[in-house]
Amino acid sequence: MQPSREHEKPHLVVVGNGMAGTRLLEELLTLEPSRYRITVFSAEQAPGYNRVLLSPVLGGERDEPSIITHDAEWYAARGIQLVLGDPVVSIERRQKYVVSRSGKRVPYHRLVLATGAQPRRLSCAGADASGIATFRDLRDTRDLIRASECSRNAVVIGGGFLGIEAAEGLHRRGVNVTLIHSGKWLLNRQLNAEAGALLRDDLLRRGLHVRLSARTASFDSDHRGRVRAVRLKDGTRLPADLVVQAIGIEPDTTLARAAGLHCEQGILTDDTLQTFDPAIYAVGECVQHRRRTFGLVAPLYEQAKVCAAHLAEQGHRRYHYQDSATRLKVSGVAMFSAGNIQGASDLYWHDPQAGFYRRLWLDGTRLSGVVLYGDTSGASWYEQQLGRDISAWRDTLLFADRLPEQAA
Ligand SMILES: Cc1cc2nc3c(=O)[nH]c(=O)nc-3n(C[C@H](O)[C@H](O)[C@H](O)COP(=O)(O)OP(=O)(O)OC[C@H]3O[C@@H](n4cnc5c(N)ncnc54)[C@H](O)[C@@H]3O)c2cc1C
Repeated sequence: MQPSREHEKPHLVVVGNGMAGTRLLEELLTLEPSRYRITVFSAEQAPGYNRVLLSPVLGGERDEPSIITHDAEWYAARGIQLVLGDPVVSIERRQKYVVSRSGKRVPYHRLVLATGAQPRRLSCAGADASGIATFRDLRDTRDLIRASECSRNAVVIGGGFLGIEAAEGLHRRGVNVTLIHSGKWLLNRQLNAEAGALLRDDLLRRGLHVRLSARTASFDSDHRGRVRAVRLKDGTRLPADLVVQAIGIEPDTTLARAAGLHCEQGILTDDTLQTFDPAIYAVGECVQHRRRTFGLVAPLYEQAKVCAAHLAEQGHRRYHYQDSATRLKVSGVAMFSAGNIQGASDLYWHDPQAGFYRRLWLDGTRLSGVVLYGDTSGASWYEQQLGRDISAWRDTLLFADRLPEQAA
């Protein structure tokens, strides 16, 4: 019997079916729908879903089916073998095969690591109590929703995007939430102090509690090992039967390190997303590219495009990092931040009654950073102007997005 043509194709194995892994598949299939036989391993049970939308799922604004982006039929229709709930546990680089937890041994010609990141966890006294959760995947989200049904007081640790969205989500589910943040203001990497204060006021008005410059010292638990309170370094005791840690992420390099791939904070790649092993690529939050690691989807999508072009052997692309804009997914709170907002800003407007705020940073004659709060209708206009010479309309720049001749 003749071997089927399918088995003559080179085999591509993708480890991780998250946002970078699924985007890579999309990009590759667009360029070269039939170059490879493809197997995808996922540690999660769920098929492809939009992780960004876990926040509205936690808040009850969306349901699980609405965030599925790639269901089992999508893979089947493209002849992709999808292995769910079975993480790859080792890579045998010399003989080029991977081994999964269930013992599957799958050879590859090309391997892509898209293993994402792990939430950071505190290691202070009491941190192993039950009821101390993270917010990273669908399983965490389900656990938080379940816990919200029997929790009265939650403490969310971390006033970045994830922490604020987790706090808002639990609050919408009727839990009394205190958000604690070690910075002097919320979102202190994306917002300046004034915009951060506007955000805190908005959250307070909604009924959340916010504590700034607050550092966790330890957790109290009851005789069953369930968390009962968070103790801060200033001695404050915050009662809590649920705690969410949202204190950042770390690239998941476990598999790559064990296989002897060169890693620092993340898996080191060159501008083509190739690791130190020419048969192995990496994309997404597991990557470290030119000393940088990642935490937003926009750069990962660009990486997926570049990596797919090289896998398709149309390798003219190079990955270059570009700053991406950030928005908070808390309905009723409009904020936008882009570019470099360090140092003194140049242009500023605030209408306290309407709650509208704009601040722009200039680098010589170029727009270098922008923060909008309350009204973000000009966000995409300002984003397009970043890095451009704006001297022609400096006088009107604060409202330039509303002037027809400049918005055009
Ligand atoms: C609640 C939430 C809200 C967010 N909101 C935003 C937002 O508004 N805007 C934005 O830009 N970004 C947002 N992000 C960040 C964004 O989701 C991530 O940047 C993106 O998902 C990272 O994609 P990734 O594919 O690298 O990692 P992931 O999406 O985490 O995918 C990695 C996958 O690999 C799997 N895996 C790991 N090891 C193995 C193994 N050995 N074998 C098999 N599978 C493995 C993991 O289980 C996971 O499923 C948010 C994140 C969260 C959690």
